[in-house]
Amino acid sequence: MAHALIVGAGIAGDTLAVLLERSGWRVTVVEIAPALRSGGQTVDLRGDSREVLERMGLLDDALAALVPQRGMAWITARGRRLASMPVEALGGRGFVSREELLRTDLARILHDATGEHVEHRFGDTVEALTESPDGVTVRFRSGKDETFDLVVGADGAHSKVRALHFGDEEQYRKPLGLAHAWFTLREQPATPPLGGWALVHNAAGRRAVASRPGHSGEQEIGLTFEADSIPRGDREAQFALLDREFDGVGWRAAEFLAAARTAPDFALDTYEQIHMPTWSSGRVVLVGDSAWCTSPLSGLGTALGLHGAEQLAAALDRTGAKDDTAAISVAFKEFEAAMRPRAESAGQLIPGRVDMVAPKSRLAIIGNALLMRLIQLRIMRGVVAKATAGSGHSVD
Ligand SMILES: Cc1cc2nc3c(=O)[nH]c(=O)nc-3n(C[C@H](O)[C@H](O)[C@H](O)COP(=O)(O)OP(=O)(O)OC[C@H]3O[C@@H](n4cnc5c(N)ncnc54)[C@H](O)[C@@H]3O)c2cc1C
Repeated sequence: MAHALIVGAGIAGDTLAVLLERSGWRVTVVEIAPALRSGGQTVDLRGDSREVLERMGLLDDALAALVPQRGMAWITARGRRLASMPVEALGGRGFVSREELLRTDLARILHDATGEHVEHRFGDTVEALTESPDGVTVRFRSGKDETFDLVVGADGAHSKVRALHFGDEEQYRKPLGLAHAWFTLREQPATPPLGGWALVHNAAGRRAVASRPGHSGEQEIGLTFEADSIPRGDREAQFALLDREFDGVGWRAAEFLAAARTAPDFALDTYEQIHMPTWSSGRVVLVGDSAWCTSPLSGLGTALGLHGAEQLAAALDRTGAKDDTAAISVAFKEFEAAMRPRAESAGQLIPGRVDMVAPKSRLAIIGNALLMRLIQLRIMRGVVAKATAGSGHSVD
């Protein structure tokens, strides 16, 4: 039985694991985290995501996990609304949709859909990849050496597979000038309820504090600020950085800064895009954020991860790569031909996207709120459609 190694048990990794197993592969998934990673905000089922999940037979599970949402609102430091965009706005193509579920739940649904021919190894990663006519020999951090017919890097924007096989991240990385911390807040009796609204408070100096609906009794918190790099791996330095950046920002920032320190799923990362001239070499291929990260600002990372994994599995199946490993390179070419236009278009952020998420000045914050109101006016429909046309985007 042909044996594939997938590095990363995220959205793209576990989608691919399900589909490869269904087409007769034996699959090993290695994940650096000690368990399936949780955390992250809601992901949108509009477009590709819904269609891929439907074809996989997992749409009902996803729909059963939807988080009730009413829309997004921009508020002042005192909590007064400057603008709001309900889920019905822009013909249902606004920032928040009715059909969103937490990334945590989607990852769990995909993970649970893997069967007995998929082995997950948590708390491990790859240290070296060596290609030979027999396959790719992988050295794991745990010390083991093993040979696979195919290796897939689905290990996210800071991919280790990419670094080992294609070179340093800096060659491919385009920073967008923002960093983002996120975590789940457990509601206390005194926690202000959201009533189904995602609330965003922008402060001058490109700082944004957001709280979005999560599971009952929880809110998903996001803190966005200006930065091209962060102190990776040093949690205390990260909290100190957040304390400095959000000092005096108002609204619930102080509450969130305190809660971040005890949140089990706290994470901090930069916003960037990854642009690579090719996503495969020999028997190694990248899929999802590791190949084409378009950044959370595109709103399309999960859709592309699902769609890319489906395209890769289909190309491997169509070319018979499972029985004839010589066909693997043909499959990789077909996969890339199908996905590249999609990924490149998704990477073209709508004009002013960074300023919209994190306006620089007070004037820009007011301007952004006015813009959010303006684009919902009936007479602006044509302009909005033109600005988002061809990119595969809703306005988010
Ligand atoms: C915890 C988490 C929360 C997120 N929250 C959001 C969000 O709120 N909004 C948003 O737009 N996007 C978010 N993302 C990114 C989003 O999931 C992706 O953009 C998209 O779904 C594409 O998925 P992916 O599988 O390519 O990458 P991911 O879903 O990021 O999965 C990558 C997986 O690879 C694992 N990994 C990383 N390095 C290694 C390694 N060296 N060895 C083995 N495994 C490794 C990671 O732990 C992760 O499980 C989040 C990602 C994670 C991991």
